[in-house]
Amino acid sequence: MFEKILIANRGEVALRIQRACREMGIKTVVVHSEADAEAKYVRLADESVCIGPAPSNLSYLNVPAIIAAAEVTDAEAIHPGYGFLSENADFAERVEQSGFTFIGPRAATIRLMGDKVSAKNAMKKAGIPVVPGMDGALPEEAKEAVKLARQIGYPVIIKAAGGGGGRGMRVVHTEAALMNAVNTTRAEAQAAFGNPSVYMEKYLEKPRHIEIQVLADKHRNALYLGDRDCSMQRRHQKIIEEAPAPLINDKARVRIGERCVEACRKISYEGAGTFEFLYEGGEFYFIEMNTRLQVEHPVTELVTGLDIVQLQIRVAAGEKLLIRQKDVVLKGHAIECRINAEDPYKFTPSPGRITSLHMPGGPGIRVDSHAYANYFVPPNYDSLLGKIIAYGDTRQQAMARLQIALSETVIEGIKTNVPLHQELVRDAAFQRGGTSIHYLEERLAKLTRAG
Ligand code: ADP
Repeated sequence: MFEKILIANRGEVALRIQRACREMGIKTVVVHSEADAEAKYVRLADESVCIGPAPSNLSYLNVPAIIAAAEVTDAEAIHPGYGFLSENADFAERVEQSGFTFIGPRAATIRLMGDKVSAKNAMKKAGIPVVPGMDGALPEEAKEAVKLARQIGYPVIIKAAGGGGGRGMRVVHTEAALMNAVNTTRAEAQAAFGNPSVYMEKYLEKPRHIEIQVLADKHRNALYLGDRDCSMQRRHQKIIEEAPAPLINDKARVRIGERCVEACRKISYEGAGTFEFLYEGGEFYFIEMNTRLQVEHPVTELVTGLDIVQLQIRVAAGEKLLIRQKDVVLKGHAIECRINAEDPYKFTPSPGRITSLHMPGGPGIRVDSHAYANYFVPPNYDSLLGKIIAYGDTRQQAMARLQIALSETVIEGIKTNVPLHQELVRDAAFQRGGTSIHYLEERLAKLTRAG
């Protein structure tokens, strides 16, 4: 096992990885920007290295500075967390070439899955059902695009092959709007992801977002750790996630899980990963694979009793998975609310000093957050302050505990989306379960109209 791991991330996930390491007796090195010098996990780390000023491109995305920090501190492995460099194949390669272990899949796998066109093709070949659409990237000629859209049938969605974070997507309802959408998405994709390649697929009207957590070692053992429903989204960004996904028939659940495991073996996947699907009319349609830890991993941890971060580290160190699929038994239900420093209805970021903070507790409540009273939320990064996760024997119990937890939560000095979560966990449609990916935006639109 590693003696020392460098954590190349910030915020709640840096703290989460640090907790896993401390439990395993592994020393931690935290790299941080000048803006994060006061962070809780920086103070708790065995060593910390300031790698640059606040802007991410000068610090958390500064590859030479991160590698140099690993060298001077004698770290053996680097955990990239999520976001930042976690799905950057060049970074994974640099880490390995510099003699460190990258805690994640091989660079080639990250590259394959990082391009959504090649990912979709690879998955189709591996027997995973994909969203109906074209096989490759969209050719330049307008004639071809028009023909393809007619074949697929409107509405279609134009997506950037290199897209991520819910950006680089455009829905098209009519032929008249098609070429304008293709050209705008292409230009955006080039500007945002440095890759103008776009593709087209059927736009599903009322799908749910359901994903499968997988875990594979370097010895061809692969497992699926159940599913999560992440349909509560705004602008393609998840805000509530739960496990298991409600109202899915068990046979379908097992079938898709087994297919994901088979796909992992086919692409020699290593580490933790997530297959994301849209689910409509009882069918799963693959949209992308995330080759890293997800923000919502705790709901899976609570229903499986497994520590995904520790397992990632064990697998990266070359250990064989000791658990078998039959040992993965789902028990109870877990729901997570992402707590963001933002206006709960206008969604404008709300950085600044937290003057007072009380986080909830009690049976079945887990809080993963780096925030504390007097903590200054820097304006430079995403607004995630942490997550409140409720567990119960049943979905109903988890929901009840979540309501209590949210009512106990006090965060003052900045705005947060806690009031929105309080409304959503009492929402009748959410309580029934199975709402589509459009539900939240439709509900928000009604609220705005009502003033
Ligand atoms: P990203 O990598 O940016 O997260 P995804 O491909 O995972 O992009 O898609 C993000 C979200 O966009 C999905 O959860 C879903 O809400 C929506 N979406 C993507 N593809 C489609 C589609 N074919 N039909 C309907 N909605 C889609």
